[in-house]
Amino acid sequence: TETRPSDGIVGPGSWSLHRRAIQALVGGVNSPSRGLEAVGGGAPPYIARADGAYLFDVDGRAYVDYVQAFGALILGHARPDLREAVVRALERGVLFGACHEMEVRLAERLQVVMGAMCERVRFTASGTEAVMTAVRLARAATGRRLLVKFAGSYHGHFDAVLVGAGSGASTLGLDESAGIPDGVKADVATLPYNDAETAERFLRERGDEVACVLVEPIVGNFGLVEPEPGFLQRLARAARRAGALVIFDEVITAFRFGPGPVYPQLGVEPDLITFGKILGGGLPIGGYGGRRAIMEQVAPVGPVYQDGTWAGHPLSMASALATLEILTAETDLYPRLGRLGQALAQGVRDLAARHGVPVVVHQRGGAVCAFFTREPEVRDFGGVQRSDARAFATFFRSMLARGILLPPSPYEVWYVSAAHGEEEIDKTLQAIDRAMADVA
Ligand code: PLP
Repeated sequence: TETRPSDGIVGPGSWSLHRRAIQALVGGVNSPSRGLEAVGGGAPPYIARADGAYLFDVDGRAYVDYVQAFGALILGHARPDLREAVVRALERGVLFGACHEMEVRLAERLQVVMGAMCERVRFTASGTEAVMTAVRLARAATGRRLLVKFAGSYHGHFDAVLVGAGSGASTLGLDESAGIPDGVKADVATLPYNDAETAERFLRERGDEVACVLVEPIVGNFGLVEPEPGFLQRLARAARRAGALVIFDEVITAFRFGPGPVYPQLGVEPDLITFGKILGGGLPIGGYGGRRAIMEQVAPVGPVYQDGTWAGHPLSMASALATLEILTAETDLYPRLGRLGQALAQGVRDLAARHGVPVVVHQRGGAVCAFFTREPEVRDFGGVQRSDARAFATFFRSMLARGILLPPSPYEVWYVSAAHGEEEIDKTLQAIDRAMADVA
């Protein structure tokens, strides 16, 4: 099926590259979430150029891009002032492998924007590394082994967090990755999200084994799912009563709903926070932070080891500094994303209703997702798993054929960027009108 001729969704250039790709790259991709396996297969568009809200493929087709690099971008593609900041840094050298001013300035900025709990930070090259080290740190700080996480959430691709994996793996129908030793599995407990009672009971019964509770404060990995009132508060209280640390994985949420982390908006403070994606402005980044007493258990001050050839990369630091400056200076940016996100979400609801397609639409700021389900609400991973994957696939393909690129999985969120405008939303809603007719 992978070599079937063009079905009109992408052009001959993309098909030709896809045929070469599957002979050279495993499955044709470097990250499984980029393939179209979950939405009927075939060639994805091969991108030649990106600008603002648009991706342009090798056949010259333009797509309004709602993937935005799986939430890594909020300013859209190739923003000139951001690019200039990176080019200026590039002209001073690519990689020093030594200490430099930009990493100090960025850490100082984060001490301000991440809140009082973030007294010390450490940068990594990816979100995976940030979470991996935060969990190691929590285990060292508590002298305990058990990691508590939530079904369907994704926290990167190291062993412990792929036990009961989210998004990418779920898209491919994998409950968890093969190759994870039983010993690792024994030290991970996966609980249902938004179920405070189960979490409280678990922490009452096994709390003295728990090193940390790792949670996306707002889930971005089985669609967009917000915590129900009181869930995070009860979780954090139960964790602390048990002597466990609370880690908020804000790799998706930090800088997505305001120029800082989302936890202050939710009224609960973590002990450790992880971040990445948006902060890098398109360059690889990750990091974690917390109170000095915990963070100074990391080497070279303390015994918890973590390093990285690319950590604090000058280009990533330059890009992050420029991104933070734009996010804090442009005061209308987040309200505007909220207005566009709301218009898109309401449009999806209205058009689905017009065509008699049952959907539940979630939206916060510029983050939107539609679940094709007959159930009245979606509040946990099970709700997304029970949604209609075939309907989503039909919808995705119909949208792609009309020049709108959504993430190729019902587990991913659609992101409106600052480069999107009313014109793009209108164009998208016109396509949705037709795509809902195809689904109905
Ligand atoms: N944590 C969350 C919540 C994520 O969504 C992701 C990536 O999607 C990660 C961690 C891993 O980040 P990275 O892909 O930069 O390793």
